[in-house]
Amino acid sequence: MTPTTRRGRKETTTEASPEAERLATVTRLVRDAVDNPTPSPSSTDRDETAAPDRVTLSFACEHGHTFDLTFSSEAELPAQWDCPHCGKMADRTDGTPHPDEAPAKPVRNAWDRLRERRSIDDLDALLSERIEEMRVAA
Ligand SMILES: [Zn+2]
Repeated sequence: MTPTTRRGRKETTTEASPEAERLATVTRLVRDAVDNPTPSPSSTDRDETAAPDRVTLSFACEHGHTFDLTFSSEAELPAQWDCPHCGKMADRTDGTPHPDEAPAKPVRNAWDRLRERRSIDDLDALLSERIEEMRVAA
C-alpha cells in the first residue's frame, strides 16, 4: 500500500478538509442512528441464522426413539412429549428435570467434582507434572 501524503499535495477546493470529512461522518452517523434506532439487546444476543422466536427441543422415549420439536420461545416448554413412533412419554434430552419432580441437588462446584475423583496427593502429583511440563515448554 502506498501511503498518500496529503500534506505534500496541493489542496484543491474539491477535496474536503479532514474537519469537513469528520463532520460529514458524524452527520451521517447521527442520521443513521435516527433512521435505524438501536435494536434491543435481546435481538443481538440471538443466533441470526436461527428463527428469532423458536426453540427446538429434542426428546427421547424409553424405546430409544428420538425426535425434535420446535416451540415458540414465548410458550412454556414441555419436559415431556408423546413419542410419535410408539406413543410412550418421551423425555427432553437436554437434561431439564420434570418441573414437578425436580431433584433438590446440592450445588457442586468444579473443585467438589475434582475432589470426588482425585485425592490431594493425586492433585499434588498432577500439579507438579504440569508445572514441569510448562517449565520444559517455556
Ligand atoms: Zn418411542
